[in-house]
Amino acid sequence: MIIKNAEIFTNSDIGFIHNGWIKVEGDEIKEIGEGTHPQDEDIIDVHGRLLLPGFVNAHTHMYSALARGIPLDIRPRSFYEILRDLWWKLDKGLERDSIYYSALIGGIESLKSGVTALIDHHASYGYIKGSLNILKETLVDTLGLRVDLCYEISDRWGEEESRLAQEESFEFLEYVKGLDNPLLSSHIGLHASFTLKDETLKNVVNNIPGDIGFHIHVAEGIEDQVDAIKRYGKRTIKRLDDLGILREKTIVVHGVHLSNEEKKIIKKRGVYFAHAPQSNMNNAVGTAHIKDLLEKGINVALGNDGFGFNILNDLRVMMLLQKHAERDFNRFGFDDLYKVFLVNNYRLLNTFFPGNYGKIAPGHKADFVVLDYSSPTPLNGENLLGHLIFGLADRLKVDKVFIEGKLRVDNGKVLGIDEVEIYKEAQKVASYLWNKILN
Ligand SMILES: [Zn+2]
Repeated sequence: MIIKNAEIFTNSDIGFIHNGWIKVEGDEIKEIGEGTHPQDEDIIDVHGRLLLPGFVNAHTHMYSALARGIPLDIRPRSFYEILRDLWWKLDKGLERDSIYYSALIGGIESLKSGVTALIDHHASYGYIKGSLNILKETLVDTLGLRVDLCYEISDRWGEEESRLAQEESFEFLEYVKGLDNPLLSSHIGLHASFTLKDETLKNVVNNIPGDIGFHIHVAEGIEDQVDAIKRYGKRTIKRLDDLGILREKTIVVHGVHLSNEEKKIIKKRGVYFAHAPQSNMNNAVGTAHIKDLLEKGINVALGNDGFGFNILNDLRVMMLLQKHAERDFNRFGFDDLYKVFLVNNYRLLNTFFPGNYGKIAPGHKADFVVLDYSSPTPLNGENLLGHLIFGLADRLKVDKVFIEGKLRVDNGKVLGIDEVEIYKEAQKVASYLWNKILN
């Protein structure tokens, strides 16, 4: 298959290609060139649109999709109360249908935002067993996204629920290993230090292979640090490290309240750090100092914590927040955005999925998007991030999405589903869910 007549941001040494083509064979990009290609069949003409690698969302929650607009009458006084009064109520209320429609909506909106791969963190304490398989069937089998799935293990709902969450995690891990599906991977999800006992963490570590990583919220609110110091006499990162949680394939999320000592441990262990700026701002927990982390050599990646599914909004807010918090225009620039979004997000993906990601170049996975974007100013390899932040983030029109060499979105429509019908049905399921958890 040839995709021709494209403006190509290769994100590689090849540079920006005006009026170019790419040849896709199977799941890979085989060749790339400029001008016309002699082949005359199996051609897709993209009429001068912008073609670039698909985006990666390094931390999200599909299960949050049906919370949009929920009529909550709460006045949380702390981050803990936001969790208790909204998110934990929601996850306890989820059932088969609501998990299914959350995943469908989250997946559809991710695709339509140019996201080709996402790392999800799932919780549904009202329906634990089999929940990860619902996400797999929806996101991977129906929508064709590249997805890493895990269950958010926690002791917050009691011993039996914790045991079931662990069981679901271990079983799914085995299941994924046996499937050998290039679009699916799994590791172990943990909610956060302050809702997990030592014995739970030890049990989890003892039940999984040493090369499986964890995915855990860390020091999002100050509560996580206060609890670790009170219960264990040490800070969160030290506690998790002592228990063997900080491994090469581990992702720590948020890290708003970290000491220098903790940052050193994160660096030493080589774990990934997922930043979610919009969520941090909305929860009023503070600012993660990611420039400092980058300067210390930590692998900062960008997620969005389920705050909508358009990762470009978080890309933009990431830059604004760092500048604003430091009152320094030069504090966070395009080189930092590049490192986080166009390098680290793909490296992180590559720790879970074999193959090459993030470049439009021969030998790389055919995961790319075609955007309908009329630029009023010159667009080239050097200023793409400027266009993403100041133009595309709020005028994003995704024309086509390819994942693993397969067309998943065409002419802005997700293929293989009836979107209108799904949104109609999702409204009914959301009403039922709201009713259940608010009464
Ligand atoms: Zn999260």
